[in-house]
Amino acid sequence: MMTLFKNATLVEFDPPRVREGLDILVEGDVIKEIGSDLTMTGLSGSDNTIDAAGRILFPGLVCSHHHMYSGLARGIMAEIGPTPDFVSILKNLWWRLDRAIDEASLYSSGLICSIDAIRAGTTAVIDHHASPQFIAGSLNVLKKAFEETGLRGATCYEVTDRHGRDGMIRGVEENIAFAKGIDAEKAKGTWSGLTEAHIGGHAPMTLPDEALKLIADACEQTGRGFHVHLAEDRYDVSHSHATYGSDLIPRLDGFGLLSDRSILVHGVHLSSEEIALLNERDSFLVHNPRSNMNNNVGYTKRIPEVKNLALGTDGIGADMFEEIKMASFKHKDAGGAWWPGEFLGALAAGNRLLERVYGAKFGRLEPGYKADLVVADYPSPTPLVAENIASHMVFGMGSSIVETVMVNGRLVMKDRIFGFDIAPIYGEARGRAQTLWDRMNEIEP
Ligand SMILES: [Zn+2]
Repeated sequence: MMTLFKNATLVEFDPPRVREGLDILVEGDVIKEIGSDLTMTGLSGSDNTIDAAGRILFPGLVCSHHHMYSGLARGIMAEIGPTPDFVSILKNLWWRLDRAIDEASLYSSGLICSIDAIRAGTTAVIDHHASPQFIAGSLNVLKKAFEETGLRGATCYEVTDRHGRDGMIRGVEENIAFAKGIDAEKAKGTWSGLTEAHIGGHAPMTLPDEALKLIADACEQTGRGFHVHLAEDRYDVSHSHATYGSDLIPRLDGFGLLSDRSILVHGVHLSSEEIALLNERDSFLVHNPRSNMNNNVGYTKRIPEVKNLALGTDGIGADMFEEIKMASFKHKDAGGAWWPGEFLGALAAGNRLLERVYGAKFGRLEPGYKADLVVADYPSPTPLVAENIASHMVFGMGSSIVETVMVNGRLVMKDRIFGFDIAPIYGEARGRAQTLWDRMNEIEP
């Protein structure tokens, strides 16, 4: 299958570059050719030509940390109780929400989150999943949502001991089963090319040494990286000192859990020494500024020290235009020295993460790169050039400019229309959200 985008202004983020009036020919799942006046020979019924005149075209955005189980939490009306600190936010809200999730609500949530991501020009999501009452098979429900909507997504199960050793072990098993399922599809030639796996863990404070050992074995066995929260709140740091007599990063490193495929999330309270070790291991740190502000966990002032920094939403949708704005404004508000350009680099670094997960090239408009592309209507009031793309992102562009989205060479949204009717999906989600909230009221914190 081929698609030809005609006459677009090509915009790239890392390094920034703007090229006007070019065509992009996509064949299969990659960019085949870029040039002027390209034509398609041997047109067939499934071929498409997209007129992108007056539009910008850029590589799809990446949300490097998301929780797609949170899709039905928006506007939640349940008896949450007091949440004066981070641990009570977890216990009274998120740990009751995830226990209320069943297969039907997860599927609905996965579809909604996938559609929302595509509408925002986000073509890939790195997901982190928890549903303690529905562990086995849960990751395949999210996989189904990714594949039905056409979104690229890697997911994993958040192993935790908060429901006992049995739940902890079942979490590890779900991670291994999911990764092996993907491998089996690849071996059979039935893999969609969209879905991938990590080995997940909730956070060091709910991962005893036995869990870390099992996770390390699972990473080794599946060849996947570890995806875990850490140092989101000071509590995680204090807990590690009190319980294990160790800082967080050295503790994980002691189990061999820091690799170039590891994704560590938040790191608000990491020390410079810990960041140096994380950098030495070539691991990623994902910054989630909106979530951090919402949970009042503090500001990650050491982000400039991080070698591989990416941006995530931590479950607050997948709109990376919103996230980069907040990342930049919060940083300035905290007296930081970075400009929007550094944050655009962090957003684009999600592609380096994808390259490690998928073993393919992402994030540039060049032949051989994956065809994860966005066409957007951005009539700029000022010149749009390589030097100021980041400022346009922070001070001008928003997700409402997104018109057409391609993932892995397939058009998943064209002129804001999906290939399926989305209204019934949202209707069903509203019904399931109410049922989910009602179930939460029956769950003790
Ligand atoms: Zn998270």
